[in-house]
Order: sequence, then C-alpha cells, then structure tokens
Amino acid sequence: MNASTGSKSLADQVARLCYSHFDNLPKKGKPLQGREWTIVAAFVQRTAKKVNSNLSLKVVSMGTGSKCVGQSKLSHDGDLLNDSHAEILARRGFLRYLYHHMEMAASGKESDIFVVDPKTRKFTQKEEISFLFFSSHTPCGDASIIVKEPMKTESGCTEEVLQPTNGSISHRDEEPPLKLPRLEIQDVHRTGAKCVEGGPQDLKHPGIDHHIVGALRTKPGRGDQTLSMSCSDKLAKWNILGIQGSLLMNFLSKPVYVSHIIIGKCHFSQSVMERALITRFESAVNQIQNTKFMQHKPEISQSQLNFRFGKQIDDENCQVQPCPSSIIWCACPVKQLEVAVEGRKQGVTKKTQNQSSCHLDICKKNLFKKFLFLLSKFQVDDLPMHLKERRTDIQTMTYNQVKRLCTDYVQMWEKVRINILPTWTTKPTALTEFTVSLAANS
Ligand SMILES: [Zn+2]
Repeated sequence: MNASTGSKSLADQVARLCYSHFDNLPKKGKPLQGREWTIVAAFVQRTAKKVNSNLSLKVVSMGTGSKCVGQSKLSHDGDLLNDSHAEILARRGFLRYLYHHMEMAASGKESDIFVVDPKTRKFTQKEEISFLFFSSHTPCGDASIIVKEPMKTESGCTEEVLQPTNGSISHRDEEPPLKLPRLEIQDVHRTGAKCVEGGPQDLKHPGIDHHIVGALRTKPGRGDQTLSMSCSDKLAKWNILGIQGSLLMNFLSKPVYVSHIIIGKCHFSQSVMERALITRFESAVNQIQNTKFMQHKPEISQSQLNFRFGKQIDDENCQVQPCPSSIIWCACPVKQLEVAVEGRKQGVTKKTQNQSSCHLDICKKNLFKKFLFLLSKFQVDDLPMHLKERRTDIQTMTYNQVKRLCTDYVQMWEKVRINILPTWTTKPTALTEFTVSLAANS
C-alpha cells in the first residue's frame, strides 16, 4: 500500500487527466476564480492493453462540490440529492456509466467493461479493466484528522502552534506553554464532520485532543445536522461492499471495487488515509467477509499537482467561499453534464421542482428508473434467476423493496452494520417508499 515511485507517477498522471477534464467542461457550475473554491472527484477507468502492455486511462465520471442538505429538508420522492460532496456525486455519475454499459451488454452490443457469465447470466468485469478513484482533497471525516506539521521558526527550530487559551488548558508535559524551541506536536487539522450520536464522541480539548480518531461521523449541513455519513466512512464502506450499491449488484457476479485512491495536493497523511479507509475496520471485516464481499485494499497515493479551484493551503483564513453549485459529468451518450444547486438541477424553481424533466439524472428516483429500464432490456430467459422469478412484481415495488432484492448484498450490509458500523445513520423509511413508472421516463 505504500506509495512507490510508480504509484506517484500514476498519481500525477491521474490528477493531470482529471484537472484537464475539468478545465474542458463548460463554465456553468464552476467556481468563480479567486472568490470560490470547490473539490473535484472522479472515477477513472484503466484498461491494460494486452499488446505492449500499455495502460490507457480515461475519466468516466466526475463530480464537484462540498455541500450537504440538512435532515429537515430531505425529500420523500427520491428527487433531491442529500449529499453533494464531490466524491458522492462522482459515484452517482459512475453508477449511470455502469447502467449504460449494462444496457449495451443486455441488448447484445459489445461493452468495454462487462461480459456476461453464461451460467449465472450476470455481468463480470473484464479482466483488463480496473477503476481508480481521484479526489482533489482528502475525504472529510476520519481521513482529515491529520496531525499538523510543527511550524518552522526563522532560525529553523521547531515552534509549537499557538492554541487559543480558555484558562482550563493543562499542557501534557506541564512545561511553560510558549517556550521555544519545542519538538512536541500540538495540533491536528480538523474536520467539520461530527461524531454520530450513540457512538464515541470528540473530546473537544484544545490541540491534538480535539478529535478522537476512528469514529463514524456525519457531514455538517447549513445550520441543520445532516444524516449523511462523512466521505471517509462512505469510501470505507465502498471498500467492503463495492461502489455499485444494492440495485446494480442484482446484475453483477462480483462487486465493483476501486484499485487505487489518489488524492491531489492538500493536507494529506498516508497513514491516516489507510487507517480511515481500511485498517480501522480490518480485523472486524476479517470475521465476516465471504468470497464475494471481501474488504478491498486499494493502493492509496497523493499527487503533488494542485487543483487551481481548490481550497489552497494558505487560503484558510481568506475570504474565499465554497462554490454553491456542483457539476456532475459522466461518459454516457446522453445528458453527460448536469449542474446542481442545493441538491436540485440549477434553475429549477419551487413551481417546477416536481416535474420529472426537472429532476437530476443522478437522483435516487432516476437511478431507480434506470434499474427498471435495464430490467426491461433483457429477454426474460437472459435474466439472473432471482430477477426472472420476480420480474412482474418488481414493476410495482417501492424503491425500498427493490433495494432488498439482492439478498447476498442485503445480508452482507446487515452483518457490516451490526458488527462494524453500528452507528451508521438510517434515514426515515418514509423517504424510500416511493415508486416510479417507466412510462414517465420517455
Ligand atoms: Zn466529504
């Protein structure tokens, strides 16, 4: 897992590819240079070509953003994005990309990424294909709790980072607080993500004891706490259950995992990333994993290339604001690009927000439609057995019921929740009781 020279050059290659892909997108939804910042995340497809063993890389989905909707605003119809962090939007775009390739393969056309297993009728990822995940920034939550580099004084000595005092601070070694030089490390970079209620809580002491590490966290919202788990927690979950989620798992022989996680230039720690995304759950996962769902340990590395719209390290106290809009892009033949604000398509008003043409293609409701549409593309005899039996019922099922169709995914997720992620938030069931009709899709 350690970054080797090879993975460093791969990291730069992937970062360069993603930044240039972003630069080539239209201006709509991008941050205002010098006034706003954002995060960009992407899924990159890597094809190992058999001839000359060359590798080819292409961006297949991209998302930007750093906002999240509070729990009081959640929608009952699956038409609103709760979580607009770049990583999550890039994943939703990636799901559309997978649907597109499954639709092609189900219609008898050649797909670049899937072949059909003749026995189970499920899709298998081609051997030469792998997927890499890129983000310009360390994911929020546990991976962002990084010990600060001690500040250097002019003489080159190490100086402690000054902390606000409130009269109750006791220094760990009881030395006078501001004497130079000091080698002790005093503070950590902080995350806005809060520990989930019912689990261990931050100590909120000054300095390095502000946060605890390894805890599950939810994202901050605007004045209203969210029910969305931090990106560190979601990425850690994807490493166990796959990126594809429960709906797409119905059609797959194995989950889709990422082989590499690459972060752009920002506050970053290799060991903290590995703790947050892999090792904090490793021994518990070992007890419950099976041949299908096994914790995947992607190679984690950092590029030294900077995202020019990113939050700059020396910007921290400046007046640069997070960009309110998000861009979602995926390598599909139609509707490649969408711009979202507060979880809805940009420009949608209260009056138009219920019209289906005003819903983002990556919202729950539309991804559910994609699932039903994919199902309709199969000849009945070509469907995996468990879907063949229930094909007619599925058309009238709620989103929640369809999410429970893939029993091996559901069983594994239940085991993970009970044994590893007991405080993972649940959204009220009423938010997933919606149905969709394919007729309205046309
Ligand atoms: Zn995040």
